Amino acid sequence: MFAPAHDELNVFQSAEARFEIACQKLGLEDDLYRYLKYPSKEVTVYIPVSRDSGQLEVFIGYRVLHSTVRGPGKGGIRFAPDVSIDEVRALAAWMTWKCALVDIPFGGAKGGVICDPSKLSKHELERITRRYTAELSEWFGPERDVPAPDIGTNAQTMAWVMDTYAMHTRQATTAVVTGKPLALGGSEGRTEATGRGVMMCCDKALAKLKMKREGCRVIVQGFGNVGSQAATLLHQAGYKIIGVADIHGGLYNENGFDIPRLVDWVYTQKKPLPEFSAGGTKMSAPDVLFNPCDILIPAATENQITSQNAHRVDCKILCEGANGPTTSHADPIIDKKGIFIIPDILGNAGGVTVSYFEWVQDRQGFFWREDEVNGRLQHVMERSFDNVIRYAETHGVNNRIAAYIVAVDRVAQALRLRGIYA
Ligand code: GLU
Repeated sequence: MFAPAHDELNVFQSAEARFEIACQKLGLEDDLYRYLKYPSKEVTVYIPVSRDSGQLEVFIGYRVLHSTVRGPGKGGIRFAPDVSIDEVRALAAWMTWKCALVDIPFGGAKGGVICDPSKLSKHELERITRRYTAELSEWFGPERDVPAPDIGTNAQTMAWVMDTYAMHTRQATTAVVTGKPLALGGSEGRTEATGRGVMMCCDKALAKLKMKREGCRVIVQGFGNVGSQAATLLHQAGYKIIGVADIHGGLYNENGFDIPRLVDWVYTQKKPLPEFSAGGTKMSAPDVLFNPCDILIPAATENQITSQNAHRVDCKILCEGANGPTTSHADPIIDKKGIFIIPDILGNAGGVTVSYFEWVQDRQGFFWREDEVNGRLQHVMERSFDNVIRYAETHGVNNRIAAYIVAVDRVAQALRLRGIYA
């Protein structure tokens, strides 16, 4: 048994704290509670990789299969210097609750490799990906565990996963991994899916709070896939993006940024976000977060809003694009402020929902148009959002706890039907 340290920044603790509250409120049977508290399997892989210099380096990677109660494991692979087993374990648990919340037939899993992609060449990243996949070739599979992109990985990484798996199993199985390039069985709309899901949640929250898109002031922290896609779609829809930040720093502009120009600056011209030439006051990334706004979207990484700074959050809606951006210790502070929260397992669920569509399309060998993908995504996001709000209102809990309760209850129902092979 593992015993995570009792400190606020341990993300597994944060995930567990919300799970505990949900179980208590649900009155979950002891046996089911004990079963669901732990992940199903964990593995550490030591990945020997030949660096471009010719020297051999060994990288450490993990894969955690949290649950297969409702279907195969599902979840991204993260490449980052601060990956740890506790983090991967938390992210895997969040995948279980996220897939259950949006009612797609997957369990939860997550993987990670401790490495800094910004300091590795494309060939080195390819070798890490291939050896990691080779070590897990019996673990992965369309009916076992289906990886996807996360921080530090992308469609190209997923193409390498698919190819390596194909080399080991001697057959092309596109459904083994999602978030692939379109030419390799990827889905229309997958790249934008998480950002699009964020926007759909913001639209729903505005309708609920009787607010308008036009002039609605938004701050987006993080300008990777999720943050940049969310900012682009929100900007297109008439929202005003007044604050942006990434690892290089932040920018604030009360008149709103020209997001297509900013995306071009960062992604085409490859220039640092805080140096953006078309307006904005430079400030540190954390400071951007605490400017007054209508919607705050943390879309970077974990532990951004903590008990130390939550009192500074000044928004009406907090829509979590990242996984675990708010610690469980910050929850009561955010609650007290009356902020309408769209928790991570709902806010960023658009990504895995379109991953599910990709898996379905791959298995059918029949591909959908982008408007079909987006229409189905909208249906899933709206249904899930409505479920969370309905539960929160009828049971007098906040949206985060409501989301966990809906999710844990769904997994528990499936587990009761399957029975525990104990
Ligand atoms: N890494 C993403 C997440 O945290 C996507 C997972 C997936 O598509 O399987 O939700």
